[in-house]
Amino acid sequence: MNAFDAVVVGTGPNGYAAAITLQQQGVSVLMLEASKTVGGGARSAPLTLPGFVHDVGSAIHPLGVSSPFFRKLPLDQFGLEWIYPPEALAHPLDHGETILLKRSVEETALQLGQDASAYVGLMKHAVDHWDKIAPDFLGPLTWPRHPLPMLRFGLKAIQSAEGLSRRFFQAEPAKALWAGLAAHSMLPLHKMVSSGVAMVLGALGHVVGWPFPKGGAQSITQALDQYFKSLGGVVETGKKVTSTKDIPDCKVVLFDLTPAQLLAIEGLSFNVWYRKQLQHFQYGQGIFKIDWALSDPIPFRNPACLRAATIHIGGTMEEIARSEKMIWQHQHPEKPFVLLVHQTPFDPSRAPAGKHTAWAYCHVPRYSQQDMTKAIEQQVERFAPGFGDTILARHTMNTQQVEAFNANYIGGDINGGAQTITQLFTRPTWRLRPYRTSLKQVYICSSSTPPGGGVHGMCGYHAARLALQDHFHKTN
Ligand SMILES: Cc1cc2nc3c(=O)[nH]c(=O)nc-3n(C[C@H](O)[C@H](O)[C@H](O)COP(=O)(O)OP(=O)(O)OC[C@H]3O[C@@H](n4cnc5c(N)ncnc54)[C@H](O)[C@@H]3O)c2cc1C
Repeated sequence: MNAFDAVVVGTGPNGYAAAITLQQQGVSVLMLEASKTVGGGARSAPLTLPGFVHDVGSAIHPLGVSSPFFRKLPLDQFGLEWIYPPEALAHPLDHGETILLKRSVEETALQLGQDASAYVGLMKHAVDHWDKIAPDFLGPLTWPRHPLPMLRFGLKAIQSAEGLSRRFFQAEPAKALWAGLAAHSMLPLHKMVSSGVAMVLGALGHVVGWPFPKGGAQSITQALDQYFKSLGGVVETGKKVTSTKDIPDCKVVLFDLTPAQLLAIEGLSFNVWYRKQLQHFQYGQGIFKIDWALSDPIPFRNPACLRAATIHIGGTMEEIARSEKMIWQHQHPEKPFVLLVHQTPFDPSRAPAGKHTAWAYCHVPRYSQQDMTKAIEQQVERFAPGFGDTILARHTMNTQQVEAFNANYIGGDINGGAQTITQLFTRPTWRLRPYRTSLKQVYICSSSTPPGGGVHGMCGYHAARLALQDHFHKTN
């Protein structure tokens, strides 16, 4: 008799999604986590001064709030509360203008002058048909259930951000907005599918906004953990799996790990062909991350920036494209594109009374050890003069420290692999169901599977559904 039917290795959002999907169907699950704390990329900690809570990993969750899987869970009953800033995103430009990604497509377009109707033409259809597009996009390659909306979406998403922007836009505000959204792909903006991430994140800004959890990303993990345990699931922390001997006997094992880690686990006798494919898996760029404890809100030149929790700091499309291209070429830009998040104006629970936090990262070459503190802070200062004077303390992580925080972030890659056209739907291997491995009992359920990086749990959900079908004759 096995004590557990299934074991899930790793407690990231995808690990929990897999474990919950199985446990909901009466399959008993044990989760094994290397770290002392659960949550993988969705964790918060007092990184700077007492009383300040920082998101060590993920901060903004349009993918989480809209995830078809998370939406089915009663996470609000386990303490998860989403906070919606009035605008999804602010993108300041040098001469003082700030573009806001608003809930309304038309109101967003109104800020874009001569590009207003092009923006509506680009986004409106995807936004209006999001409920038809999202389920197909957020999974493995499959024949779309709604081919026409998916085709219209796909023909834009497949383009490079620079190419699409040239075709649709004339002026800087729209181009810069698009470049900032596309830079989340961590691809250079001349690469195909860099518009895909811009389409998804832009559409979600209109459909659901860009919210974040009250109290920190840890609240997402806590809610998943408590719900999982309420179903009878068991979690053990401080249990790094290095060999199959570390895993108790069970019918199936799902790994919330990336290919390099899977290959390093002793006793997993994958066939040669599968092993080769995992060895060829391509990891993406790394990040350099800063968390600040601040005396005051960030003193943006344009106060409209304080209407959103996410601020894209990078100026024009040309500058952002140059910065992302340099990183791809293993160089460090002097003026990096910075993803800045400032939740405390909307969530005072994260800092002592009257004080604030901010979170930022820029992309860097994988395994880079360069300290980007000065470059990031100069970029923030450019749009918020006096920012430096508000800093009470800072905590930084280079790519090595990012990987030490979570072994899945190989060389600082936070997406579990490059999100290139060949790795978008067929990661980590070219299979229709890439969650299966060459071993019948073993599945991979991390962000190295479709639909890739982000806190949404869809990789874990799809992997667990296959395991349910294959081993427990259940469909859900
Ligand atoms: C700085 C940063 C910012 C981010 N920003 C956002 C954001 O704003 N929004 C968003 O949606 N996403 C964001 N992400 C990405 C997001 O966090 C990840 O895509 C997501 O966490 C992936 O989930 P996962 O379950 O696949 O893996 P992970 O969350 O990486 O979890 C993997 C787990 O496996 C454990 N593990 C590893 N090796 C072993 C082993 N041998 N044995 C046992 N356990 C092991 C790890 O400790 C970890 O807990 C960010 C990530 C980082 C680091």
